Amino acid sequence: MSAKPLARRIPFNVLLGFCSGWAVGALESVVITGTSQLVFPNPLFDSLQLGLRYGLLGAAVGLVLAFFPARLRPNRAASVLFTTFSGLLFVTGTSWIHQFFYGGVSPLSFGPLAANGLLAGACLAAGYGLGRMPAPIVTILILAIAGHGGVAITAAQPEAAASSTEAAAEGAPNVLFILVDTLRADHLQSYGYPKLTSPTMDGLAQQGVRFDRAYAQATWTRPSVASLMTSLYPASHLTNSLHVRVPSELQTLAETVDSKGYTTASFSANRNVSEVFGFDQGFDTFWTHASDELNSLVRFSTWERVMEVLRALGLAAKPPLTNQAAKLTDRVLAWTQQHDGSPYFLYVQYIDPHGPYEPPAEFLAEIGVEPPGSHLSKSANPVHGKPPYPFYEIHEFDQGNLGRLRELYDAEILYCDREIGRLLDSMRAQGLLENTYIVITSDHGEEFWEHKQFGHGQSAFEELARVPLIIAGPGIGPGVVRAPVELIDLYPTIATWVGAAIPDRIQGQDLGGLIAGGGQGMAGEALISNLHAYELTAWVLGHEKLVRIEVGGEVRWLLYDLESDPLEQTDLAALRPERLAELKNQLLERRNAAGLLRVGQVETAVIDRQLSNELGGLGYTETGGEEE
Ligand SMILES: [Zn+2]
Repeated sequence: MSAKPLARRIPFNVLLGFCSGWAVGALESVVITGTSQLVFPNPLFDSLQLGLRYGLLGAAVGLVLAFFPARLRPNRAASVLFTTFSGLLFVTGTSWIHQFFYGGVSPLSFGPLAANGLLAGACLAAGYGLGRMPAPIVTILILAIAGHGGVAITAAQPEAAASSTEAAAEGAPNVLFILVDTLRADHLQSYGYPKLTSPTMDGLAQQGVRFDRAYAQATWTRPSVASLMTSLYPASHLTNSLHVRVPSELQTLAETVDSKGYTTASFSANRNVSEVFGFDQGFDTFWTHASDELNSLVRFSTWERVMEVLRALGLAAKPPLTNQAAKLTDRVLAWTQQHDGSPYFLYVQYIDPHGPYEPPAEFLAEIGVEPPGSHLSKSANPVHGKPPYPFYEIHEFDQGNLGRLRELYDAEILYCDREIGRLLDSMRAQGLLENTYIVITSDHGEEFWEHKQFGHGQSAFEELARVPLIIAGPGIGPGVVRAPVELIDLYPTIATWVGAAIPDRIQGQDLGGLIAGGGQGMAGEALISNLHAYELTAWVLGHEKLVRIEVGGEVRWLLYDLESDPLEQTDLAALRPERLAELKNQLLERRNAAGLLRVGQVETAVIDRQLSNELGGLGYTETGGEEE
């Protein structure tokens, strides 16, 4: 090693560190774009950003190393080992963090591995270089440029929004679809809640049809809204983890409606429902509340995984999650004011009841509710990636905090309800609600320790899976439907309203019969699943509910009678073994049938629930019926 003076070592080390970091960022970017199914709006710009961040970190490391005494400065062999092992440490560490927070191993776990492996290899080839002149820098620069080139080549381009050229038929009805994220049915007065949280929604429920037992197909946003938009169970649309988007081969509800010449627009306050994840398919206008950062591939990098840990430790600020309903309403109204009055399909997703429960301070003051303290915000933090009850339980919790959390959650609902009222009033004044179907629902509920957990996404208890569903419009209601229905049923229902052909490849059923007061022949059942780090299938049949949970090869069954035990506090699995055995087989058939239209294995035949049940009964199942 040459013994260069400090004054020469510093700029050289800083430059080399910067270039090394830059190369890591560029290479990790190419792996992210190459291995995920996601589509980023500005992948090249994102990769430069990631390169810049890692570059600054690398420059800092280089600067520190320059001050090491000569005998501690690594020689070439030590440098290579150091780089290799630190790369491995980085990879295993961030992978672990990722699994800890989200559960499951994503294909992207290989991203940092590949990036660091390549960097280590490059260092080996270039002789690392804390003591060498330009060659290593040139090598690393070439790597960085190759990485950005790779991003440009591998990043999938967003497909141009398909838009039909025909105009919608005269007199075609409008569809206004409002989804309130994280809204459990039993916190609305029209669903029996003692407090007044939802006067606007309750008013619509009185005019139209209220579905007393509507079930979401998953209990977190991405798979649940994907089911809603494709009328497929999670086992078929396979949009079940952080790194997966709604497959473009599926014909979404928006595409079906758009094919009839509708003006289609979507405004989502939840970043999970964004163009990165393919939810813009079929929409002429699409807006998501997400900063550039959240739409960037940086979010899927090692950088973000490290930031998650820093945030969890309180060492970095959390990105804003809750978009205030008023801002969303304003944005939608800006669109309606420009709308030309042609038939529209408008999808609006509010997010306010989602944690953290922090309604605007002025609103809390108005309704006389104390703002949340920091201890409350902390205690409301859901534990990500933990298995469902009964595999994981939070045993200790302050009951006083629980009451406060519920109060704040209710305040979020009331605030959101008021904004929905403002939206409806304004649209009505603009004449945009005539001949209009209005749908109000949610993607999942929220649990407040009813089953020893918080948040959503892990279980499928009623507080999570049962969502409000209210439909008002021409010739509808008033009425209440007591039979279980599923959110996947909305696709064929809406397609019928707008006069579109219902595609073969769906799994829901038209609710038209039930809305008209009939509904004979409807299944009267619901399937909910979470297919993430573990597999959970819940099946509602009449007043019974059977849940199958498989965690790490261990299978547990839970059986509830929703009529005598609506809060699911008494597991009957051990008490009613014969009934359990009967229902088990039926659940396994439903579970297999749910995956029959799986993406990548296209079945063009119409497989309705009855046919799929028959197929299941004949032993014709995707998995070959090897279940226990
Ligand atoms: Zn959600």
